[in-house]
Amino acid sequence: MIGLLLIAVVLDFILGKYTEALLILAFIFAVATTGFAQEFRSERALEKLRELAAPKAVVVRNGVEVEIPAREIVPGDVIVLATGSRVPADGRLIEAVNLKTDEACLTGESVPVTKRTGHLPKDVPVSDRANMVFSGTIVVYGRGKAVVTSTGMRTEFGKIAGMVQAVKREVTPLERRIGYLGRFIVAMCVSACAIITAFGIIVRGYDPLDMLVWGVSLAVAAVPASLPAIVIGTLAVGVLKMARRNAIVRRLPAVEVLGCTTVICADKTGTMTKGEMAAREVWLVRDERVDVAGVGYELRGEFKKAGKRIDPTKDPDLPILLEAGVLCNDASIHEGKPVGDPTEAALVVLAAKAGMAKGELEKAKKRVGEVPFTSERKRMTTIHEAGELVAYMKGATEVVLDRCGTKQVEGRIEPLRDGDRQQILKVNDDMASRGLRVLAIAYRKLPPEIELAEESVEQGLTFVGLVGMLDAPREEVLESVKLCKKAGIRPVMITGDHKLTAMAIAREIGVLKRDSMVLTGEELDRMSNEELERIVEKVDVYARVSPAHKVRIVEALKKRGEIASMTGDGINDAPALKFSDIGVAMGIKGTDVAKEASSMVLTDDNFATIVSAVREGRRIYDNVKKYLVFLLSCNISEVAVVVLACILGYPLPLTAAQILWVNLVTDGPPAMALGVDPEAPDIMERQPRDPKENPLVALRWFLLGKSAMITAGVFAIFTWYYQWYGGYLAKAQTAAFTALVMFEMFNAFNCRSERHSLFELGPLSNKALVLGVAVAILAQIAVVSSPIMREWFGLAPLTLFDWLLITALASTIFIAVEIGKLAYKRLGR
Ligand code: ATP
Repeated sequence: MIGLLLIAVVLDFILGKYTEALLILAFIFAVATTGFAQEFRSERALEKLRELAAPKAVVVRNGVEVEIPAREIVPGDVIVLATGSRVPADGRLIEAVNLKTDEACLTGESVPVTKRTGHLPKDVPVSDRANMVFSGTIVVYGRGKAVVTSTGMRTEFGKIAGMVQAVKREVTPLERRIGYLGRFIVAMCVSACAIITAFGIIVRGYDPLDMLVWGVSLAVAAVPASLPAIVIGTLAVGVLKMARRNAIVRRLPAVEVLGCTTVICADKTGTMTKGEMAAREVWLVRDERVDVAGVGYELRGEFKKAGKRIDPTKDPDLPILLEAGVLCNDASIHEGKPVGDPTEAALVVLAAKAGMAKGELEKAKKRVGEVPFTSERKRMTTIHEAGELVAYMKGATEVVLDRCGTKQVEGRIEPLRDGDRQQILKVNDDMASRGLRVLAIAYRKLPPEIELAEESVEQGLTFVGLVGMLDAPREEVLESVKLCKKAGIRPVMITGDHKLTAMAIAREIGVLKRDSMVLTGEELDRMSNEELERIVEKVDVYARVSPAHKVRIVEALKKRGEIASMTGDGINDAPALKFSDIGVAMGIKGTDVAKEASSMVLTDDNFATIVSAVREGRRIYDNVKKYLVFLLSCNISEVAVVVLACILGYPLPLTAAQILWVNLVTDGPPAMALGVDPEAPDIMERQPRDPKENPLVALRWFLLGKSAMITAGVFAIFTWYYQWYGGYLAKAQTAAFTALVMFEMFNAFNCRSERHSLFELGPLSNKALVLGVAVAILAQIAVVSSPIMREWFGLAPLTLFDWLLITALASTIFIAVEIGKLAYKRLGR
């Protein structure tokens, strides 16, 4: 574009048109700086986004676990490793419990490597250094702590040059489509300009050099060369705004897809509910219910049996249940806040209410082994030593029950019969149907010679009782679910929790309808993919599912043509997150692996944030469309006006400098303001957009209709003035030039919506637009009123009457489009 303009400058110099040459040089400068400013704005926004998505790590500082940006880690730091985290630096292990890491990125070996503390012989190759963890590898199982030995480029990973991946900047589908379209428009405009130039020289006999300068300027002016950059800028700035509202978009293309979302599959616990667990009741297998009082994570609260306060430590069965709950547990309470899994934190609080402190119990009964909780296992077991070995288990009721052979009643151990099992499951269902999350608790005294392995320890346990926890729905989720339904988006609950608990919560927040289907993981396992596809549109709740099921659900939804968003937090959720149209990872609970696989991260883990992101996604896309329609209708009419004049044998209605002025000066501010337009009133009342929609094809009539009106109006004014003033060209050009600017100002207001009247949107609701239009009109007044500028641009003065006449005529586009919108509404199409 700049090259073309430079040719025009040279030609102007040859012709001795020094003023026009200087003017075009000034425009070249303007093009270069605005282009640079736009790129800079997008790049900075993208840079900020990259920073937001930068990896974090948990380290121990001042004795407390804190999360810091991974790049702030220094040698000597103690890093905390949990399943799903990416190791942020190289380090020597000082604690390793069932720790396994995937070192494929270093060694190419995809089988997880078991890690342990302790000494190794000298000169062991990297792949065999079992007491070290390496930066960039992933913890796939267990947990541990390590002292950092090296960071950054000094790590084993850093040493392998070129392996450090930069965040790739992806081309968004919209950008691609607009790129194609841009090239198409370029081809059209350049050919139109070439034809007109040739036509002017050959048929009309205009001066060839003059015509060339003019043709080049027209081509430059008419080509929307900066469109893709502007689109990216608008997307990036919108995305930054989303980040301020707790949704960090990791991949820019996701913004576009957000607006197309038709199904949002969300985890229940912590996303749809508050994730603040409080143990409300305990049921002992001797068929006695104990209610627990208390507020939040406060360590005080009474235990009551049939409304009467009791001392839990005097009960024959309660202490072992509380002890198991607190020892088979990795959470803690720090300054009144839970650290770790809220389910476990609730058990720490429960025991504390009975005066049993976690720290003291752990000292007295040292943990010597454990099998961690995973969503697949749905249970956790720890082994403790205090004179004898004891295993404690907690987990989903049916899972724990399967591993029990006896029960504890009044301190005695008795066999667990079929009748007992049925009764336990019945009580479990009763608690679950009241929306409680139920955990079963069991224990086993282990023989001293037992091998401390999963299979040998997790059997023959003694069942003690159930703990029912309340996890209330988030208040804002109710509203969000309603909003989703209005917007044609189906919210689906996916949870590892019990079917009845899930249904109770789903009913409360409005996800479960009268004709909804509920599926469990077990039922899913028995179903073929085709069977699932057939019913997937009706299932609103999935319970007792594991992460592998999520992939099948997304797959079935996608096959049915849905645009599915899926939430997840664990390492095993990564495939489903990657596979879904928009993978949404939890910022608080989520593992690094889940975050890396996702397109969006929620910093507040809240379902309502997904819905606001969808809303924002729709707004951003709408604004890109407004922007495009405005700029293109302006460019098309400019070219059309001169083409028309040339064909009908009139002199050129606009000079090269005038066209450059309109495109680079007066169109700029309103166009920018359209990019930040407030959302339409029905933004969440219309159906999701078809992802394959090309915005310009969808709006072609709106676009072409307005271009035709501008062309007709400007051309009419030009010919009218030209004849009225008996061929006084400068006057006619000035009128046409000003009419073009005024038409575009009214057009900018039209572009705010293709359906809603400006009065519905509020004429002043986009203040930036009002300001932008005012600035553009003032600039135009300045050009036409100042004698020097007039000379540069080859203009004649305009009287007040001229201004009023031109403005009145230009306003017809606004009136016509408003009438069109009204008719559209009345006719319903
Ligand atoms: P979501 O709704 O996000 O899927 P969830 O907590 O309901 O989360 P999971 O975490 O997979 O799902 O838990 C499934 C079941 O495993 C729970 O219903 C509970 O019975 C049991 N469970 C949950 N957390 C623990 C834990 N820390 N230790 C033992 N068992 C647990």
